[in-house]
Amino acid sequence: MALRNVAIIAHVDHGKTTLVDELFKQSGTFRENQRVEERAMDSGDLEKERGITILAKCTSVIWNNGGDGDDIRINIVDTPGHADFGAEVERILSMVDGVILLVDAAEGPMPQTKFVTGKALALGLKPIVVVNKIDRGDARPAEVLDEVFELFMALDASDEQLDFPHLFASGRGGFANEDPSIHEGTLEPLFKLIRDHVPEPGLDVDAKFSMLATLLDRDNFLGRILTGRIESGRLRTGMPIRAIDVDGNVVESGRATKVFAFDGLDRVPVEEAKAGDIVAIAGLTTATVSNTIADPEVTQPIYAAPIDPPTLSMT
Ligand code: GDP
Repeated sequence: MALRNVAIIAHVDHGKTTLVDELFKQSGTFRENQRVEERAMDSGDLEKERGITILAKCTSVIWNNGGDGDDIRINIVDTPGHADFGAEVERILSMVDGVILLVDAAEGPMPQTKFVTGKALALGLKPIVVVNKIDRGDARPAEVLDEVFELFMALDASDEQLDFPHLFASGRGGFANEDPSIHEGTLEPLFKLIRDHVPEPGLDVDAKFSMLATLLDRDNFLGRILTGRIESGRLRTGMPIRAIDVDGNVVESGRATKVFAFDGLDRVPVEEAKAGDIVAIAGLTTATVSNTIADPEVTQPIYAAPIDPPTLSMT
């Protein structure tokens, strides 16, 4: 199945959760009788109940490609909007091949998302811009699009990045169009932009398995769970793995007792996953974020963004 890995960047309340829910609904990922009110990306109660926060971070939608061809799995990774998560943001952005910048059509781009947007641009990711909530009475879609362009200019975006594809949408209304005066339709145009503008991860499936651990979660039953995108090779359940730190020191050796892919709201156990897939691994007990999880023969860590040094205040 074709694959796209994309991060979504939005200021709080600009409608990320609603939009992702709607993408689920329209992709057919939910069975008809399933309740969609259990919101995909900030299903707080559900998370507490299961003792995990993974669901808040990575969600997966299978889109039928508009009936045009093979199904496409779209992994959508939630990105903290705030600069406080500097190193985490870099690791998350290293998992994806594109970003969706979601901006409220009345409020415009907010200073808090500038840092993450700047990081995404600096990493060479080509943004897809979605001006959202165009159904608001006070929406000013064309102006907000100009503001996004100016922000990208200020962040030294390349010509190609400045030529970003964009849509005017209402996540709540379930539509996205090129023309801001059209207030109906579906999110099909957004699915198509993701298909056409986010590159397929081009990774070596025949090399030894390696993955940069990007997110750490705890599960009441399974213990420590490390999530990341497989950089190379294949990971099979039960396979021996090893964690090495950024200097190549061995942190831990063990086995991948469980391997999960993401399917809608759920983590689904899989027998095997391959380069490009975003997976969650159980089985290690001390390995952590920024470690390279790999075949025991791998000695070279995957580049991980350095942890930002603490800010020292002068007194
Ligand atoms: P998040 O914080 O970015 O995840 O935003 P939410 O999806 O939780 O939405 C924040 C608020 O905006 C909620 O009250 C939503 O009902 C509302 N909202 C979301 N999408 C739309 C939209 O397309 N139009 C309007 N008018 N409101 C929306």
